[in-house]
Order: sequence, then C-alpha cells, then structure tokens
Amino acid sequence: MIFQVFFALCRCFQELKTCRRGKSSTSREPDFGGTENFASSPATLTDCETLLKKNEETCKRYNFASGWSKVRVLGEGGYGKVFLLRKKKNKIARKVVLSQPTDCGFSSEEIIHIQMSHPNVLKLYCWEQKANVLCMNLEYCSRGDVASHLLNLDEKDAKSYFKQLLDGVAYIHLRGIVHRDLKPENLLLTKEKVLKISDFGLADFFIINGKEIRLTETVGTESYMPPEVLQPGRKRYLGPPVDLWACGVIFFKLMTKRKPWSRADLNDEEYRMWVENRKGLYKKDGWKELNKAFRTLLNLLLEPNPTQRIYGWRRACRH
Ligand code: ATP
Ligand code: MG
Repeated sequence: MIFQVFFALCRCFQELKTCRRGKSSTSREPDFGGTENFASSPATLTDCETLLKKNEETCKRYNFASGWSKVRVLGEGGYGKVFLLRKKKNKIARKVVLSQPTDCGFSSEEIIHIQMSHPNVLKLYCWEQKANVLCMNLEYCSRGDVASHLLNLDEKDAKSYFKQLLDGVAYIHLRGIVHRDLKPENLLLTKEKVLKISDFGLADFFIINGKEIRLTETVGTESYMPPEVLQPGRKRYLGPPVDLWACGVIFFKLMTKRKPWSRADLNDEEYRMWVENRKGLYKKDGWKELNKAFRTLLNLLLEPNPTQRIYGWRRACRH
C-alpha cells in the first residue's frame, strides 16, 4: 500500500509541476441521477463572466428553482444549513449560506467550487443568489462525511480514502487553488465509497495569471493547520504545502483514530516532541501503532519547513 500512496503523492507532485507550467488537466464529469451530465468547468480560471452565464443556464436547464422537496438537514453550523432535497428519483444537497452577491474576479466559495470537475471533488452543479442568501446545489453524498465513520473505519477503507484524497488534492492544486480546510468533516462519501472533497469556503487561488503567489490569512481548522500558518504576526506562506500538511494530519487520524497534536506550535507537547524528539514520540499511543513506511510518509507530509515539505516529497519521488 505504501507504494500506491507514494505513487499518488508523486503524481500529485508531477501535477503541481505541470500546473506551474500552466497546462490544464483532463477530467471526467460526475453523473447526476446516473444519466445526465452537468456543465463542465471552463478552461481558464479567470473567465468569470462566461462562468456566471453558464451557471445561470445550468440552474435554468435543470430547474433547480422548483419541484424539489426538503427531506432533511444534512449539516448545520454558524455558516447556515445543508439540506437533502429530492425530486422524483434525483437527490441533491443544497447548502444555504448568508453571503453577498459575487462580483466577477472575486474568489468566493461558489466561483472557486464551480470550476472543479474531478471524481474526488464534490460537484457544485450551480448556485443561486437571492438578496444576501446564497444557495449552492451540490452533488449528494449519501454516506455523509468521513469524520462520522472514523471510529469504525478498517485499514482497507482508510488507505483507499487517503489515496482518493491525494488524487483530489492533486487536481485542485493543478487548477491553481489551495483548499486550506482539509479535514475529515469536509471529505464526503458516496454510496460506492468514492471520496469527494467538499467545502471550498476557505479556498483561494495560489496561482494568478500563471504566477505563484503567497497567501497571508490565518485560516483553517486549528489541528489541521501547519506551523507557518499558525505562527503569530504577519506571514506570507505557500499554498500547496498547507494542504499537504492537512493530508498528513488526516492520514494519521485515519490510521490511528487520534489527532497527532492539538496545535502545531512548540507549546504543544506532542508537536514539540515531533520537532525535537521524534523517537520519543514514536513510543506514544497512536504513533507506536504506525509501521515504518507510514512514518516515512508522515515525515514527508508533516515536515515543519513548508519548502522542505515539497522538496522532501520530490526527492522521494526520484528514488
Ligand atoms: P462551517 O462553516 O460551520 O464549517 P461548512 O462550511 O463546513 O460549515 P459544509 O462543510 O459544506 O459546511 O457542510 C457541513 C456538513 O454538512 C458536512 O460536514 C457534511 O456532514 C454535510 N454535508 C455537506 N454537503 C453535503 C453533501 N453534498 N452530501 C452529504 N452531506 C453533506
Ligand atoms: Mg465544512
């Protein structure tokens, strides 16, 4: 299995390099109701007006505005609610949030999400904005999120989910986007156990006009955030290493059902041991259950230095 994951990581890295050269990916559209295909993503990330028009057409074509009945609430929080909706045999999830209308060029959740088209990324069919309420019509994942399956997860599924996560992350990065909130709650599962990355609420572009930019905001979920984002004061951090770090934390959690630390700063005992006394840490619960290959993988993904996080990975891919 470690080889499979390694290949997935290498593919991720190769695609990152492709991304910097500005090539686009090939992608498949997920089916809706098993038969119909929805709008495909535009070739460029900047053609916002075309994208808005296409979104409007899709919503009209599939008549998302009427005929759908609410079945139940799938998730709820400070952001708003996610509902399960049904129309005849078709089911969708509708995320309803308070949000101002989107201007072209503005990197909002729906503008970023609608451009994604990959088997391991949740499909946003289209969105509708009424006054300050935004409704996102999403592919429905009947098994819910990975977090709710963690305790009963066997190793085979854990490995499969992790591999699918890497495939989805490679694709997102290839589109010049960093997710910044990867965690089991944002990884959804279909009936067939296909993993779908969801919730682009904190995502942003890390490539603009073909150039890699650095990001500055302190955003994410604390226990999945890397040290360069958690550090106090002003910062300018690279995009992809943030998601790689979160993948490392998720891998640890999938394999051990625990989190490696609460916060990646030196005041946290476990994290300090990770930086200063790794051998000592390996004797602790959770860590001692991981074999050498899994630890090697974690050494690459949870590398405290973000530039080494990428280069360590590249070195590993060469061998
Ligand atoms: P918050 O801002 O509070 O973090 P959120 O932005 O995280 O909220 P989502 O992650 O999109 O909102 O959705 C919240 C939860 O709703 C998910 O963790 C999941 O359990 C459920 N959910 C969301 N979308 C779907 C879907 N398409 N199919 C099934 N369940 C879903
Ligand atoms: Mg979420």
